[in-house]
Amino acid sequence: MWAGAERSSACKRSDKSKKMIQIDEFSISPDHYINGERISSEEKMMDHSPIDGRELGLVSVGGQKEADMAIAAAKAAFPAWAALGPEGRLPYLEKLGHIIEENVDALAKVETNDNGSLYEASLLRVMKRGGHNIEWFAKYAVDRLPEHAVEWETARHNAKHQVVYNPSGVAVVIAPFNAPFMLGTWKVGPALAAGNTVVLKPAEWTPLTSSLLADFAHEAGLPPGVFNVVQGYGEVVGDALVKNPDVARISFTGSPETARIIGANAAKNLTPVSFELGGKSPLIVFDDADKELALDNMVEQYDNCGQVCLAGTRILVQESIADEMLERMVERAATLKVDTPMDFETDVGPLIHPEHFAKVDGMVQQAVADGATLVYGGKPHEKGGLFYEPTLFKDVDNGSQMWTDEVFGPVLVFDTFKDEAEAISKANSTEYGLAAIIFTQDEARAERVTHGVSAGLVWVNCFYVRDLDQPFGGTKNSGVGREGGIWSFDFFSDIKNVSTRKGTFR
Ligand code: NAD
Repeated sequence: MWAGAERSSACKRSDKSKKMIQIDEFSISPDHYINGERISSEEKMMDHSPIDGRELGLVSVGGQKEADMAIAAAKAAFPAWAALGPEGRLPYLEKLGHIIEENVDALAKVETNDNGSLYEASLLRVMKRGGHNIEWFAKYAVDRLPEHAVEWETARHNAKHQVVYNPSGVAVVIAPFNAPFMLGTWKVGPALAAGNTVVLKPAEWTPLTSSLLADFAHEAGLPPGVFNVVQGYGEVVGDALVKNPDVARISFTGSPETARIIGANAAKNLTPVSFELGGKSPLIVFDDADKELALDNMVEQYDNCGQVCLAGTRILVQESIADEMLERMVERAATLKVDTPMDFETDVGPLIHPEHFAKVDGMVQQAVADGATLVYGGKPHEKGGLFYEPTLFKDVDNGSQMWTDEVFGPVLVFDTFKDEAEAISKANSTEYGLAAIIFTQDEARAERVTHGVSAGLVWVNCFYVRDLDQPFGGTKNSGVGREGGIWSFDFFSDIKNVSTRKGTFR
């Protein structure tokens, strides 16, 4: 299980008879997709399912050569794709969106086997949203981008001014393991809609749905080189992509540690970056809150086995209701079903990989050593494998690792506060600033706390609701820039201001 990679650097075209990865009735190519063709590398890595550790198959692992090939293909395809304009690109991207929607069963099954996320959520919601991500941004470019391409006149200069959104070039998209398809398409959609060509690098542990996306792009007739997928290790092929001087944009979702490396490498070419990073978000419950609603949302933070950047992993409850809420939270946690994510009844599936499992368990043990009180869970689940008990701590020192650092596992912290000022102060006491979730029935209080917390996203009496035209991103170590709606186009475009003196044309 989880054997290492077989290393070599040569790269060759895929043999048609090559072994495909088979997940039930679905076949997935193990290879890169570059310039409209499947490209195989001699170096392979074994892709395992986190559900049971079984070997899904060997996948090609790219290096410098594959990264350069993909960037060169994307660069060559760029002028024609850019010249199509939003209307010309729309039919391709609508077709791609439709193909994704027709294949949600394949995508959901493959994603769950590859990354362990809940099959029910993937099948019923998440994969469909992947298709929506592609179509929505393509339509936005046609229908709504012109609103931002404003024209105005100034008498002082006797000139007409105009804002023009131009495609920027080759966009590199680097995705994490926890929601590979959803997060990948969320970046690929606006990048392509804005007229860029794309090289997508999925996380090494979860390459399979990106490979399917390449098939669908091919079927949708995207010209060769417009969309490419390169697989492999972040520090090798990801590094090579980031350092390539022909890259115009780097859009990254992952950890702050990786973002710092990418940022430093991108700086050498002054390549603009967009970073969506981790979080240690507060979920704040005031004593006037709808308690049932708050409890539903508190326990929801174990979703995807806690491998959710947005999760409200620090639960802060006002002192007067804290004992009751803690007791009821533990009762709820005890009802969670930890089991295979293929089962519709399962609430908590496995962690992604043994390395990550060891990190999560290590942080739990460290919290105990640091004096935190274990209220629930706290060890590998009796099912074995990569299953971990939903875990809850209290009495966590606000300077300790368990308070300040992202676990990215099913591990929550429970703490109390006296009043609004203390709630805000505790909410802001980490280096992260992705989300804040607030439960109160007092609108004025909701407004005050919203303004007080440092977070890119605030949910009041709800969690996770979002439309694609809202800005998404974090403050502090949780990110750089915003995605969604016009913010995606601001990033993926070269914005040009044109001033023309009036009366100078014949
Ligand atoms: P990671 O940073 O380890 O890896 C992310 C991606 O970066 C992978 O594809 C990896 O191969 C690649 N990579 C690694 N080193 C690289 C390098 N030197 N150059 C180029 N690419 C490199 O993150 P992960 O463990 O896959 O994902 C978990 C993290 O992602 C968590 O911190 C989580 O909070 C965050 N995340 C954030 C959001 C968001 O929208 N803010 C969404 C999901 C996940």
